[in-house]
Amino acid sequence: MGAPALRMYACGPTVYDYGHIGNFRTFLHVDVLRRFLRQQGVAVEHVMNVTDVDDKIIRNALAAGKPIAEYTTRFERAFFEDMEALGIERPEHTPRATEHIPEMVSLIERLAAKDIAYQTEDGSWYFRIARFAGYGKLSKKDLEGIEDGARVDADEYEKDAARDFALWKAVKIGADGVSEPSWQTALGAGRPGWHIECSAMATALLGESFDLHAGGEDLMFPHHENEIAQSESASGHPFARHWMHVRFLLVEGKKMAKSEGNFYTLRDLLLKGHRASAIRYLLLSVPYRHQMNFTFDGLAAATHTIERLRTFHRRMLRGGFATDGVNAAVSAATAKAAGDFTAALANDLNTAEATAAISEMVRAANSAADAGTLTAENAEAVLRVLALFDEIFAVLEDRDEERTRAALAWAEAEGRIREAAPELVAKLALGDSEIEALIAERTQAKNSRNFARADAIRVDLAAKGIVLEDSKDGVRWKRK
Ligand code: AMP
Ligand code: ZN
Repeated sequence: MGAPALRMYACGPTVYDYGHIGNFRTFLHVDVLRRFLRQQGVAVEHVMNVTDVDDKIIRNALAAGKPIAEYTTRFERAFFEDMEALGIERPEHTPRATEHIPEMVSLIERLAAKDIAYQTEDGSWYFRIARFAGYGKLSKKDLEGIEDGARVDADEYEKDAARDFALWKAVKIGADGVSEPSWQTALGAGRPGWHIECSAMATALLGESFDLHAGGEDLMFPHHENEIAQSESASGHPFARHWMHVRFLLVEGKKMAKSEGNFYTLRDLLLKGHRASAIRYLLLSVPYRHQMNFTFDGLAAATHTIERLRTFHRRMLRGGFATDGVNAAVSAATAKAAGDFTAALANDLNTAEATAAISEMVRAANSAADAGTLTAENAEAVLRVLALFDEIFAVLEDRDEERTRAALAWAEAEGRIREAAPELVAKLALGDSEIEALIAERTQAKNSRNFARADAIRVDLAAKGIVLEDSKDGVRWKRK
């Protein structure tokens, strides 16, 4: 049997909208952590929840006139597609909050049995923070003057106020007689508060104590403070042993906000022609412990760096180098790069120093190759270090066009193709002959009764805005 896995929990997305690049900065750095642990021989058991019920979801679903499950399914799917586009590995477990209501209820019942959870007149349940001596230990907030019994029922609230927080929200009926989504439970009809969800799912999947808990810096207080309070009060054991908080992403020096006009989802950027690999690389270029400023100049530089790395990689693969001996200087540079790369990541995941180590090797090897003094043995060693680099950064394989095409197909299907850069649409649009070839393939498939394939082609074309019409003189097509 191997060593036990490192158990970690990362707060996942609230699936009420498309993920923005700030969200992905956090998920990308958690991805680096899991990849680096694996590279070091540590198996990881990673849980990332999906928050599919909360205030914002309920508000948006109500406005869209949809049940919350229908509303969230679409954004959850989009989120996992975006993760994939950014090369973020899928955690071992991705539980949905709405599928763990019984665990949340029993956790609240344990707290109620200790008189730490109490019920208010409207039937909601709250956590009494005055009963948890360690409240504030994570965020090190000065919580002097906590008002005993002062309550808040919003999932998120002012960052400096310590308040008893909602564990379970009694069902509310709007003026129009429509009730919020709710579950009939031993606690009464209602729905969970946001914080209890993570405590319940972390405990269900990783146990009462586990190794590491991660999230963006905004979650430290009150979300993670509340998770600790709930979990430790119920279990009597320490909750997470280590915490990792990713500092925020700013855009062009400002907090990202729709009202500032500097708010970008991954899809916004792909539709403007920016490459998924460059976005990944840029968001990883500043270590997680530092705030990062996203700029379009930075994105252009990342695109250029990846080009350079890929060209260099191909050059090393192509070979044709001298077969006798080694260039000692390049050998030394390669060994140093490998050592520095690993040391940088081992030093609190210093991604900036890690990439700098690789750049130095690229420079040394490129100039030796230019001078004709790089040998085949050197190239092999260089390729091994590049592989080490790519196990973490995952940008060498070029899947950018595929990601961009997928984003365009999505925009097309959503009627949002106007948001895409016209030159991109023109470049990637299917040409007439390609369309005709696909239609011929579909006819073939139909004739051989392979209806699944025939349908898949039709759906794929439809996603690209091409509609087929079967008639007795064959298939006609048009662009939507
Ligand atoms: P949410 O979907 O809002 O629950 O957020 C998902 C994750 O993204 C959480 O870990 C947040 O802390 C993180 N996050 C949100 N905004 C930013 C930002 N601007 N920079 C970095 N991380 C963020
Ligand atoms: Zn959480």
